[in-house]
Amino acid sequence: LLEFDGVDKYYGETHVLKDIDLDIEAQEVCVVIGPSGSGKSTLLRCANRLEEIQNGEIRLDGQSLSAPNADINYLRQQVGMVFQSFNLFPHKTALENITLAPTKVRGVKKKQAQQRAHDLLADVGLDAQADSYPNQLSGGQQQRVAIARALAMDPKVMLFDEVTSALDPELVGEVLGVMRDLAEGGMTMMVVTHEMDFAREVGDRIILMADGHIVEDAPPEKFFNDPDSERAKTFLSKML
Ligand code: ATP
Ligand code: MG
Repeated sequence: LLEFDGVDKYYGETHVLKDIDLDIEAQEVCVVIGPSGSGKSTLLRCANRLEEIQNGEIRLDGQSLSAPNADINYLRQQVGMVFQSFNLFPHKTALENITLAPTKVRGVKKKQAQQRAHDLLADVGLDAQADSYPNQLSGGQQQRVAIARALAMDPKVMLFDEVTSALDPELVGEVLGVMRDLAEGGMTMMVVTHEMDFAREVGDRIILMADGHIVEDAPPEKFFNDPDSERAKTFLSKML
């Protein structure tokens, strides 16, 4: 569904993604781990065209995301992304945060967008907070609104970049729970995370990045118990 084909990404002289080949299947949950600076965020950002690539192609459902003439607005609707910082609009309620893009970008009728937003808020356990402003919500609640907001565009793929890293430990579980529900509902997901229990239990596939390369790509069982690469063995010995 989401394919990276010989992708190179440079920031100036710095080669950050090196000939990345990766094919994420529909309904697959691909967990991306690796040391700081290895290119995890860049990989996700390229898939949402927040960054341009210099070589290769990224395709969603067979359509090029990276071609110069790609319909970026359309493709971006199909790729939902949630970041470490919640990035909610501070002067809009939870409900308004969710209805904004569907009404403005997709021309959905206000009533219909609100109904859908209430459903999504219920899915993430927050319907009672529909009229709350971001500063009235906990970090975990804000992050769940951010997930609902991304889902409101009916994306084909969801990208999560360390969405629990800024949260107090007691709030991490509620956000991971929402992501787990989403995975069980069949959403295709790429998830950068340090949460190894989540990776093991929810991931279909774990990718280890190091220095701009994918150095290990295996189902959790194999990844955690019997990885092929020395990089993975070393990484796991530090991590676990
Ligand atoms: P972390 O675990 O710290 O989030 P990461 O694996 O997500 O790390 P990236 O943020 O993708 O790593 O960064 C990969 C490399 O690209 C790093 O060397 C980083 O310094 C560099 N880099 C990232 N963003 C930019 C930028 N906007 N301009 C220049 N270099 C950048
Ligand atoms: Mg990062």
